[in-house]
Amino acid sequence: MNATAFVIPAPPQASIPVAGEGKAFPVRRIWCVGRNYLEHIREMGNDERDPPFFFAKHADMLVGDGATIPYPPLTKDLHHEVELIVAMKSGGLNIAPEKALDHVYGYALGLDMTRRDLQNGMAAEKKPWEIGKSFDHAAVIGPIHPAAKTGHFTKGAISLAINGNVRQASDLDKMIWSVAEQIAKLSEAFELKAGDIIYSGTPENVGPVVKGDVLLAKLDGLPDMSIRIV
Ligand code: MN
Repeated sequence: MNATAFVIPAPPQASIPVAGEGKAFPVRRIWCVGRNYLEHIREMGNDERDPPFFFAKHADMLVGDGATIPYPPLTKDLHHEVELIVAMKSGGLNIAPEKALDHVYGYALGLDMTRRDLQNGMAAEKKPWEIGKSFDHAAVIGPIHPAAKTGHFTKGAISLAINGNVRQASDLDKMIWSVAEQIAKLSEAFELKAGDIIYSGTPENVGPVVKGDVLLAKLDGLPDMSIRIV
């Protein structure tokens, strides 16, 4: 649907700065992979034979590197999930895994912030878990780094520290679905387009954060990223 005039001011285009380009990456949709690391499946008590799956956040929930984010309402158990993020420059339906990386513009480091108590409560009642995953400031993301400069990420140490204490530490080579497989699988269900981003799933040792915490995310091959909870 296109319009030439709007009855209310149009919402701003969500975007993420691109490192070294002086430009931004416009965001269309935010997809997230659930249960993409075996040890995280185990710590959550889920069936390790089940394949990963997808859920979504809204583009206006993005928060950038260096932000202070308010502790969100309703929850008493806000969790960190450090993740590799993939930014798409093109897309399609039924993308073959061997062609999937051709559609990647770049990569970023981010946090899939989660209201764990609300997520688990909804899951227990077999209700949709948006309230636990999709809320204001829930999609933390650092600057995007063009794949032309970084190459593609298939392995490398990824970690998250809180106030200097490492909480999550793993390697991208432990992802059940590689980035190429994530794109291929997602494109079976939805037509991917330029501007889509994908949170690749979190390794084990997710846990709570409290007001005042400083979260520092690291990934081999990208600059560190940090936010503070207030
Ligand atoms: Mn996640």
